[in-house]
Amino acid sequence: MKANLDVLPLSSWIDTAGKPLIIAGPCSAETEEQVSETVSRIAKEGYANVIRAGVWKPRTRPGSFEGMGEAALPWLVEAKKQTGLPIAIEVATPQHIELALKYGIDILWIGARTTVNPFNVQDLADALKGVDVPVLIKNPVNPDLALWVGAFERIAGAGIKKMAAIHRGFSNAQETKYRNSPMWQIAVELKTLFPQLPIIGDPSHMAGKREYLYELAQRSLDLNYDGLIIESHRNPDEAWSDASQQLTPEALGDMLKSLEIRKASYGVEFQNELDQLRQKIDNIDRELLEVLAARMSVVEKLGEYKRENNVAVLQLDRWKELHNNRADLGKKLNLYPELVEEMFKLIHMESIRKQTEVMNNQPA
Ligand code: PEP
Ligand code: MN
Repeated sequence: MKANLDVLPLSSWIDTAGKPLIIAGPCSAETEEQVSETVSRIAKEGYANVIRAGVWKPRTRPGSFEGMGEAALPWLVEAKKQTGLPIAIEVATPQHIELALKYGIDILWIGARTTVNPFNVQDLADALKGVDVPVLIKNPVNPDLALWVGAFERIAGAGIKKMAAIHRGFSNAQETKYRNSPMWQIAVELKTLFPQLPIIGDPSHMAGKREYLYELAQRSLDLNYDGLIIESHRNPDEAWSDASQQLTPEALGDMLKSLEIRKASYGVEFQNELDQLRQKIDNIDRELLEVLAARMSVVEKLGEYKRENNVAVLQLDRWKELHNNRADLGKKLNLYPELVEEMFKLIHMESIRKQTEVMNNQPA
């Protein structure tokens, strides 16, 4: 994929004193008191650069709390006065944008359920023409990098240069550890495509449960993310939305203190050591590919032998035996089981493709 994006560095529109950007606040603005108490406790802790709150809530099924709407906007104006911090909210329609701007909301974000729909994103882009407001774009609910990229291109098309990505993870078909699986590779690919685009981790929506917030926040920082957006509520268990993933402002403060912030740059000595290790990896990768090529030439011979004896390409018993044996071997070598499984699935698929090709290519 080729793409280009005109983006301003994060530091040109928000001062984080060289530290990762921290956006904190409740999933939803529920009442005037809840907003006021939550934001003042967050501000007292001193870690937040921006306050977040949901005003219009995209809920999976009707009947749950769908946000207070416009009524909550004055509470956020007050929260800004109270804390001196800029306010970020989610917008999903041109009308949301109009209201957010009317109340002087500082930062807008596009939610995961909106990013999936190009019509919707284009409507937002049209409403943002000529407006100078930072826009954060969450990844779409499905793991489709092009869709995420397309949303940036549409918003950039409206002349918005203050943009950042929020990685909030991807929906799962089955029950998994995390509410939304991170699939880090997709965010890394986005960063490779647009190195200047700031990227913010959203451990809250990845985790779904507060006990996983720390590991996901740390992982985001390990990947050199520019910041974190984390939900915090004065009384998490009583929250009207996303109760199980929210933290008190004080617990969030403790968590942030225990995170390791990795250095983005390094000295000569470190660089030399890094170069040597990377060279080793380059050599090992070459060997890996040579071994793979050798395996494929044996597979080709196997295909010819099967063809001569008129035997079917796929033999399920053999595949099962191979699969179990490689899983055991992998375990003994301390390799991550999913890596071994996925790798052999791919290798096996390629073996079948190659043998089928040999089968159908009868000698003259
Ligand atoms: C949210 O930030 O509260 C939210 C609704 O997130 P997402 O769009 O990631 O589901
Ligand atoms: Mn939420």
